[in-house]
Amino acid sequence: MTTSDTTLHPTLKFVCSTCGKTHAPEESEYACRACGPSGILEPASLPITILEEGLFTSSPGMWRYEKLLCLSPVAPRPPLHVGATPLLHAQRLGQSLGLPHLHIKNDSLNPTGSLKDRASAVALARAAEIGAKRVAVASTGNAGSSLAGLAASMGMPAAIFVPASAPRAKLVQALLYGAQVFAVQGSYDDAFELCLQACDHFGWYNRNTAYNPYTIEGKKTVAYEMYEQLGNAAPDIVFIPTGDGCILSGVARGFRDLQTLGMIDRVPRLVAVQAQGSNAIARALAGSGTLSAIKAHSVADSISVNVPRNGAMAVRDVRQSGGRAVVVSDEAIIAAVQELAAMTGIFAEPAAAASLAGLHAYLAEATEESAHSRHEIVVLLVTGTGLKDVDAAARAAPAPIPVEPSLHSLEEALNL
Ligand SMILES: *Cc1c(COP(=O)(O)O)cnc(C)c1O
Ligand SMILES: [Zn+2]
Repeated sequence: MTTSDTTLHPTLKFVCSTCGKTHAPEESEYACRACGPSGILEPASLPITILEEGLFTSSPGMWRYEKLLCLSPVAPRPPLHVGATPLLHAQRLGQSLGLPHLHIKNDSLNPTGSLKDRASAVALARAAEIGAKRVAVASTGNAGSSLAGLAASMGMPAAIFVPASAPRAKLVQALLYGAQVFAVQGSYDDAFELCLQACDHFGWYNRNTAYNPYTIEGKKTVAYEMYEQLGNAAPDIVFIPTGDGCILSGVARGFRDLQTLGMIDRVPRLVAVQAQGSNAIARALAGSGTLSAIKAHSVADSISVNVPRNGAMAVRDVRQSGGRAVVVSDEAIIAAVQELAAMTGIFAEPAAAASLAGLHAYLAEATEESAHSRHEIVVLLVTGTGLKDVDAAARAAPAPIPVEPSLHSLEEALNL
């Protein structure tokens, strides 16, 4: 098999995660025709089945993995560089927790400041390929600012539907990128529904999380990067902040792909970290697996959802990986923002720091026998930058020390 044989489009198929029906990409751009929005489509297989030389390419950032994406090779890519984010060996934080192999995958370093850029990049490539005139998304904030930024880089008009309560920085970001931003007087779920209706009505391309199958395709690249950055090995366990559950399923798919290709033996245990006030996936995992809507509230806006849009798939993926869910309080999340910043130099938004809060909860609940697991390779996925929500972070910050512009005043302040 040569590189030119890897043109995948003619054989590319999606399969409904609910009923199992297959669809060609042009048959259904989004969800299953039979099941509607809950029939989330997944690639029926990897576009490449033979482990050939040069599986990974020298394209920039996440496009290094373009041969493994269910996307036409000719789909135009947004020019902003997404992915290739660092994996930091967090030695100081690891030492304080008794975990010598603690790593942080810092996806806050994407161009618009969150992991959502991986999804936006692939969705925009698909939108451009099929000639979309405008792209749209409903978002708690990051998917919107991400789509707006990457769309700006390609000159594609964008419409963003956010709940009126979204953090200001995320709105300002989307507005300055030139998107039309609609502040929906309601919840994220209301924004989601309105975006579905608008795309249907106006023929816009819809990047809604879970509904658009290319979003999880983009997110899976973060798993490929972890694998390469760990010296071509999978971690043992990954902590993933979880709202809709798309990031989690993206990570699962990435590692599953590598397993299919014979590059790793097994998918790491995936731990879904949820906020106490937004714990539908955790409750489904603790119970029979069925999801019920809740009235979500959390300081971690990016993981606060009433109905997890990718809940069923995330529950499946956590179970298949042998992982579990942990639930953390808003106080624990804010404490984790502070600890992560002070111990690693990484300033994360609350949802992103939730992975550290989740690690604490996991260690506190760990049994004696799982104490061996302290030698495991642990990855915390940090999904968005703290600069997106300074107000939330400020809750954990002391006030600055007022001083006159004199050494004397400084000495007084220092109690010298
Ligand atoms: C979107 C987002 C999440 C949660 O991702 P889901 O796919 O909704 O589970 C976590 N952290 C940040 C910063 C996000 O933007
Ligand atoms: Zn279906």
